[in-house]
Amino acid sequence: MDIHEYQAKEILSEFGVTVPAGGLAYSPEQAAYRAREMGGDKWIVKAQVHAGGRGKAGGVKVCCDDNEIMDAASSMLGKKLVTHQTGPEGKGVYRLYVEAAVPIEREIYLGFVLDRTSQRIMIVASSEGGMEIEEISADRPDSIVRATIDPAGGLADFQAREIAFKLGIEPASTQHMVRTLKGCYRAFRDLDATMVEINPLVVTTDNRIIALDAKMTFDDNALFRRSNVAELRDKSQEDPRESHAADRGLSYVGLDGNIGCIVNGAGLAMATMDTIKLAGGEPANFLDIGGGATPERVAKAFRLVKSDAKVEAILVNIFAGINRCDWVAEGVVQALREEPMDMPIIVRLSGTNVEEGQKILAESGLPIIRAATLKEAADRSVAAWKADQATNTKLKAV
Ligand code: GDP
Ligand code: MN
Repeated sequence: MDIHEYQAKEILSEFGVTVPAGGLAYSPEQAAYRAREMGGDKWIVKAQVHAGGRGKAGGVKVCCDDNEIMDAASSMLGKKLVTHQTGPEGKGVYRLYVEAAVPIEREIYLGFVLDRTSQRIMIVASSEGGMEIEEISADRPDSIVRATIDPAGGLADFQAREIAFKLGIEPASTQHMVRTLKGCYRAFRDLDATMVEINPLVVTTDNRIIALDAKMTFDDNALFRRSNVAELRDKSQEDPRESHAADRGLSYVGLDGNIGCIVNGAGLAMATMDTIKLAGGEPANFLDIGGGATPERVAKAFRLVKSDAKVEAILVNIFAGINRCDWVAEGVVQALREEPMDMPIIVRLSGTNVEEGQKILAESGLPIIRAATLKEAADRSVAAWKADQATNTKLKAV
């Protein structure tokens, strides 16, 4: 789960990281009020979306008076911000963060990630802040400093000082840098984060170390024990198909194709997507209905996949071990009876209670295309989808 910049800053500041003074705003008037409340003569108005690259996309504006703040706020609020990280559809801007400007001496990149090779939290930092880490590793790979943290001892002072030294931090700022690094590490570890990124972390002209931007991502599987974090979820920033699925306990990832997939098991779901591609089609989603799926759960999955306007055919692929083919078949029939579908439905069942399952499908009298193997299922799905598209085109022409 991702959170907003202002939320990440609030968390990090509780762990000792210095952040600029700032306030949240939902309207241009409120944005101007926030600035007046803070005082000063220069402010930054920042669109709060779950994506980086806002600066280059018009989502970060430097302002010097009320009018500039209100103009900047009006240009952002209620609009979709498209950055290189949002995809072409962009992300809606409903909240703004207004911050007091900071006198920047230099910008640093600081990231904490989970390194699966060493099975440790890894610090990735660079003296070249402001740029995205992908650009830094392409243009200035030599500027990147890496360090892994021993979970038994945590981030040690000497290790933090070494990083500060490698980044060229002046002695006057070293202590502040050590506090910042240790604070980020503790926030990461104590809150089950999977990523903390501060880009840029700046050294000010008066030698303070301040986080000008902040991003945090949390492990979804640990949210049950981090209610304070779970509360920060903002569904307006998520793919609506995925939020809907997550609320119903289904593991779903939306894609751009048109063949909807309903599968049990993450591995089989991946294999199904690959086989559809091999057959010349494009999957519309990843969906794992899990083990022991009841007919109701299958019907729910069906409704979810169908609600995606891009879906033009649905492939159900079940290799039942814990699952029961008869329950899956019942679910499919239930969903189709409830709401007849104007698209090809292909079902491949294998494993536990397969005969009963096939019988339910056959006796339903519904126009379900059946397949025995995964390859056959994928081939038939793509063929049926193509035939259906051809018919639709002809009908439109008439
Ligand atoms: P991102 O583009 O989504 O990563 O948004 P950032 O929060 O990183 O802002 C983009 C850029 O705006 C930063 O790299 C800074 O150069 C600039 N910026 C942000 N806050 C301030 C500030 O307080 N003072 C100044 N001078 N520039 C700022
Ligand atoms: Mn940034």
